[in-house]
Amino acid sequence: MGVTPSYRRLWEKEALFDRAEEARQRLEACDLCAHECGVNRLAGAKGFCRADDAIEISSYGPHFGEEDVLVGSRGSGTIFLTGCNLKCVFCQNYDISHLRDGYEVSLERFAEIMIDLQDRGCHNINLVTPTHFLPQILSALDLACAAGLSVPLVWNCGGYESAAALRLLDGVVDIYMPDVKFGDSSVAARLTGARGYWEAAQRALLEMHRQVGDLRVDSSGIAYRGLLVRHLVLPRNLAGTEAVLRFIAEEISPNTYVNIMDQYHPAYEARFHPPLDRRITRQEYSEALRIAREVGLTRLA
Ligand code: SF4
Repeated sequence: MGVTPSYRRLWEKEALFDRAEEARQRLEACDLCAHECGVNRLAGAKGFCRADDAIEISSYGPHFGEEDVLVGSRGSGTIFLTGCNLKCVFCQNYDISHLRDGYEVSLERFAEIMIDLQDRGCHNINLVTPTHFLPQILSALDLACAAGLSVPLVWNCGGYESAAALRLLDGVVDIYMPDVKFGDSSVAARLTGARGYWEAAQRALLEMHRQVGDLRVDSSGIAYRGLLVRHLVLPRNLAGTEAVLRFIAEEISPNTYVNIMDQYHPAYEARFHPPLDRRITRQEYSEALRIAREVGLTRLA
């Protein structure tokens, strides 16, 4: 067994339950992401993400398609949550995120799933698009701790987390994995419906890095704590790649572990939004890598 995850220390101090309760209270005027809708989800109202106080998942299991530092030999214990606080017109998982193809689970069941993934040997619990379910996840985590959960928690999110959400996650999350989608808020607003995306993402990155630092791996090459940033290159530089990578190198750390992704394909409504109606070219991807090296990033996945 590796390093003790942060959340276990919180649980041993009997503080995780209180943290979950505090998070749940925020649902009365939800500000868990930078939309800050202010709706009362406990009373059944729904904001931009359309989630109320229940938690829904689409699927779970050991996943081998993530970064090597998460997958190792036994897989990343991935739980896909339904819905999203961003509405990207090109969403690569739109059936889960937009169509909310999934089912409700109890907190007890969610905790059992985490334990099951650990029992199957997964190196971590990888929560995909978790932010709008933050209170429910903390409650389930409290239950899972009692059942012996002890692998790192990966917060696999969209970078649009609010200050309130990140404060609640401080000391809970070991590995933050934001997918930083845009380096220009006007482009982000047009393609996701999120206002001030880039400013929110910059604040979130700074806070995530303050909490967990650069990504650290054990002697087997498996990540156990730190920041891992994803960035999907989009056609005709719609992702604002240079702004994103330069900010990471200069304001976060040149040792930030960054996965510059090349797998963009036109999905969901992308065909109505050229140039998103095509894949990226080899030249566009090479240019992103060149920028990463130019700005001084040293750890590219
Ligand atoms: S999680 Fe974000 S999008 Fe969903 S209701 Fe709360 S503030 Fe709005």
